[in-house]
Amino acid sequence: MYKHPLLDRDKISPKEALDVLIEGNGRFTKNLSLHRDLLSIVNITKDKQHPFAAILGCSDSRTASEIIFDQGLGDIFSVRLAGNIASPFAIGSLEFSCKYLGSKLIVVLGHSGCGAVMAACDHYTGGHIGEILKHIEPAVDHHQALGHGQGSADKQFVSQVCQTNVELQIQAILDGSEILTQMLADKQIGIAAAVYDVGSGVVTFDHAKSLF
Ligand SMILES: [Zn+2]
Repeated sequence: MYKHPLLDRDKISPKEALDVLIEGNGRFTKNLSLHRDLLSIVNITKDKQHPFAAILGCSDSRTASEIIFDQGLGDIFSVRLAGNIASPFAIGSLEFSCKYLGSKLIVVLGHSGCGAVMAACDHYTGGHIGEILKHIEPAVDHHQALGHGQGSADKQFVSQVCQTNVELQIQAILDGSEILTQMLADKQIGIAAAVYDVGSGVVTFDHAKSLF
């Protein structure tokens, strides 16, 4: 019988939740992901979900949080939008996870080679994609004001914008949510900044930009 690893997850702290994700990514990158009896977990979680972390990641098909952090059903409240943007709907989803489902940690997860970030670096404006990119523009503007690169062909520029975008989305969450700001002040949750490398499978957490 599969034992759900975090049935006591009410008792874990935000930093312990972070450790679970770091360990999971470590297993993933060593090709040691756990074999889970997913149908058993379906049964365990059928009446209630209690995800220990909420992850605001990109919709990119290479960045599925449950896989890269080696987690199972019921573990992660996954919010995915191109460019991992903290739109009002995304913030509402994070509030739902933390306030009503008991998640202890929010991760804002950018990634290398992000098409949304690259499009923002090129100031693309078409269709509804342009509405998404408006959320990334402040990170682009920040680096261009510093005299950095001018478009997506500059890989270092794209990487810098990706990292700054994560930082600014965390700020957008705090600016946009009294609920989450209060939970952070009360140490009920933490917010972590991270970037996933689509070439290696490694998630790098930026502890200096994380809030606990
Ligand atoms: Zn992306």
